[in-house]
Amino acid sequence: MTSPPLPQVLISEVGPRDGLQSVKATMPTADKLRWIDALAAAGLREIEVASFVPAKLLPQMADAAQVVRHALQYPGVRVMALVPNLHGAQAALEAGAQKLTLPVSASPAHSMANVRKTPEAMVEEVQAVLRLRDQIAPGVPVEVGMSTAFGCTLQGAVPEDDVLRLAVQLAQVGVDEVGLSDTTGMGNPAQVRRLFTRLFQEIGSRAGSAHMHNTRGLGLANCLAAYEAGVRTFDSSLGGLGGCPYAPGASGNVVTEDLVFMLEAMGVSTGIDLAKLMAARLPLQMGLPGEPLYGMTPEAGLPKGWNH
Ligand code: ZN
Repeated sequence: MTSPPLPQVLISEVGPRDGLQSVKATMPTADKLRWIDALAAAGLREIEVASFVPAKLLPQMADAAQVVRHALQYPGVRVMALVPNLHGAQAALEAGAQKLTLPVSASPAHSMANVRKTPEAMVEEVQAVLRLRDQIAPGVPVEVGMSTAFGCTLQGAVPEDDVLRLAVQLAQVGVDEVGLSDTTGMGNPAQVRRLFTRLFQEIGSRAGSAHMHNTRGLGLANCLAAYEAGVRTFDSSLGGLGGCPYAPGASGNVVTEDLVFMLEAMGVSTGIDLAKLMAARLPLQMGLPGEPLYGMTPEAGLPKGWNH
């Protein structure tokens, strides 16, 4: 018997981190764990489950270590954590995180607002994290999600050369994957195709995920453009939960349900069971009563005869 072919794209679910971080309410830990159980049951293979930041800054993430340990029970799921600095990386690796992601902003103004450091200082922080990883957890990939790669609400346009220069610098210091984030929802498909094409030319297989926001309704169009440029990892959040608290007006990660629908309908396999994915909205809603969830596919339902 042969095993089924590997899915063609990786959907990295960021709701439990990116999503929860930007809503005011704190989801009780038990509800978070139930939600993660449902996401794993739907077939997600990578979940960003927590952010290792001081609890006084983000009470929503005070249970980060516990959430990581819980998620580790699923062998098919790579448990990812966001870490803003070396201190967070240490805590995340001690908890058992299987992949780290660091935010590095292409826009200096956003970088100062988000982590109170310049992009150059963040590259040094990333290097410190890579040294720590090599010492205590070799083999754990370190990713950088480059924020504001397509524009910044504070700075305005972000020159593409700045994005590429920073990406090359990060790849040179040993970052395993450099993804591009449309933190503020300013990107358009032509820009996304151009920038990811250049990213592949500059750093090859270290080119990472597309993290698109639906702020202006272009989330899926931008994902499609990234797919056509060769991107095979996409960040999205169930129910479109999340945005960025330091990018005013930037709300709405791409909705995982709609992204999976688009790709599967195109014949691109994700490994995700869409009906089970939509069922994972229930524990999310129960943990965050009153919080709006988005998504066209959940509203419309699956088309007749859907058999992906
Ligand atoms: Zn996001």
